[in-house]
Amino acid sequence: MDEVKQLLQYAFQTNNALTMPISAPGSAGMESVFVNLVEPGDKVIVCQNGVFGGRMQQNVQRCGGQAIMVQDEWGKPIDLNKLREALQANSDVKAVAFVHAETSTGVLNDAKALCQLAKEFDCLTIVDAVTSLGGSELKVDDWQIDAIYSGTQKCLSCVPGLSPVSFSELAIAVIKQRKHPVQSWFLDMDLVMGYWGKGAKRAYHHTAPVNSIYALHESLLILQQEELQPTHARHLKNHLSLKAGLEKLGLEFVVDQDYRLPQLNMVRIPEGVDDADVRNRLLGEFNLEIGAGLGALAGKVWRIGLMGCGSSQKNVDYCVASLNTVLN
Ligand SMILES: *Cc1c(COP(=O)(O)O)cnc(C)c1O
Repeated sequence: MDEVKQLLQYAFQTNNALTMPISAPGSAGMESVFVNLVEPGDKVIVCQNGVFGGRMQQNVQRCGGQAIMVQDEWGKPIDLNKLREALQANSDVKAVAFVHAETSTGVLNDAKALCQLAKEFDCLTIVDAVTSLGGSELKVDDWQIDAIYSGTQKCLSCVPGLSPVSFSELAIAVIKQRKHPVQSWFLDMDLVMGYWGKGAKRAYHHTAPVNSIYALHESLLILQQEELQPTHARHLKNHLSLKAGLEKLGLEFVVDQDYRLPQLNMVRIPEGVDDADVRNRLLGEFNLEIGAGLGALAGKVWRIGLMGCGSSQKNVDYCVASLNTVLN
């Protein structure tokens, strides 16, 4: 457990003592962050530019908080000026929450700048890093992130079912000063810490999914061995290779290169091509699954993941060749 904690501190680039995997998938990591930090009546600004920002809004509301929404178009990054306006227009905002890597659109939001702005207004910062951890640069301490959650099955290429989280000293102080007990017993970080805290004294809280924790340990060792910067560079290299291949087939990217995720590639479906038919043939004939568009983008785009060990030249070549066959 101590080794997993250390490896997660490396992956998140943090010294936070409260860094550990929640025993459930990314969505539970999200809940753990919100139920511990948001109390009834708290105001939280949620910046949304895709599906997963909407889940943050629901979490704030279910905690009895008030979610102040800053909306941006899906496929575009979060606008810093809009966040500044929302911070100026609302007093007593407790936290600013946003998704770092929007898996629904393939947009990388500028987490560093968003957190810096939130800190100018003395707000806590809450970040969804489910798709960014292991795929994009992420510096929890340098960027002043107070609470962050991720998943194991995206760029860590691990089994699903665990959610790495990290809380800053400031976040812990806020949790300790809560007026109401955390309504979730399972996700109450005060209790969970008794089990995951360092040293020999561990108080049983729940039965840990040890098999999955061994798997996470291994995937984090692989990340440490490749090192963060080369891992991110590999994701970028394979993205550029996929882009070149898809553009030869006449497919266009929706998201601008400046803020495009290398691990999630969203391309426009060409005129006259049947979305479901192509995806079904790829799956049936090539055992290759690509993602459909979500929300307003349904039927208009495909989302191609190149995450973790899935980000390889071999997979890029196979994807481009299979799409070429099906489209022609
Ligand atoms: C996948 C994902 C989640 C949810 O994670 P689960 O492990 O499926 O619960 C949350 N946020 C983002 C950005 C995701 O991509």
